[in-house]
Amino acid sequence: MHCGIHRRTFLRAGAVGAGVVALGLTAPDAWAAPVSATERRFSDIDGTPLHYWRWNDGTVGRRTEHRRFSCSADFHDRLVVWIRDLRELASRFGGFRGMDRIVTAGLFVDKPGQHGLGQAFDLDQVRWANGAITPYAREHSSGDRLVVRRYLALDAVCRRHFRYVLDGRYNAAHADHLHMDFGGGAIRCDRSSRSDTVFVQQVLNAHQGAGLAINGSWDRPTQDAFDESRRRLGVGGDPFTSTADWRYWLLRAASCGFAGTDFVAPPPPIADPLRDFVDEVVRETQNGLAELLGLLQ
Ligand SMILES: [Zn+2]
Repeated sequence: MHCGIHRRTFLRAGAVGAGVVALGLTAPDAWAAPVSATERRFSDIDGTPLHYWRWNDGTVGRRTEHRRFSCSADFHDRLVVWIRDLRELASRFGGFRGMDRIVTAGLFVDKPGQHGLGQAFDLDQVRWANGAITPYAREHSSGDRLVVRRYLALDAVCRRHFRYVLDGRYNAAHADHLHMDFGGGAIRCDRSSRSDTVFVQQVLNAHQGAGLAINGSWDRPTQDAFDESRRRLGVGGDPFTSTADWRYWLLRAASCGFAGTDFVAPPPPIADPLRDFVDEVVRETQNGLAELLGLLQ
């Protein structure tokens, strides 16, 4: 079967190295990271070099260094699937070619929570030979609609693989990076989640002129605009309970984002390469409560 081959290709592991970097956060003395948090050490993801640029010497965001990072084996494998999906969709719909750099603010960080478990990633930039998407530059609030749409396309692809993605409209702490982690259980659209709701509201405004307040509250106008998007994008099923249906909405939104088109004229639909992809690792955690308390980071 085609799908089986595709899945094995997706899951082949990337390169391995050694090291740790963080957002400059320190851990409480009582916190001890589990061994699995650092079981993979690597400086590339599936062949794309990982860089760091958050210095304290005035060169932040300009001088980059190829560095090694750590995370759990399961999380690393998920990053490989994510980066392959991103390469494919950005190339097919946006013409992005030759991904040559990922800039991260950190993976494993010695503190409680998903970073401390080696199950979180802070994304500052993805660069190709012919373009870049840079959350670090706060592109979610750019005055250039194409820049906003591409930021949201990247955001959407991340959400196809990670239940919790925190973006520039989630809160001020995430204005300069996309955070993704392993918490929260199965991937789906959760209307009670601020993270999911502000993302959907941004997409509906950027591609459908919905004019929604980006307030994190799944209100009637948001529901109506979301229903309209599903009609325009040809997404059936139930994205609130079905991983495959939510992933497909995200794929369609990302295709419009990379292509820079309105939902009224989306690119022709494709079969979702992840249609039959089953999460081997679904982590039920306290992220829902943590999100409510504003503790995700
Ligand atoms: Zn983070």
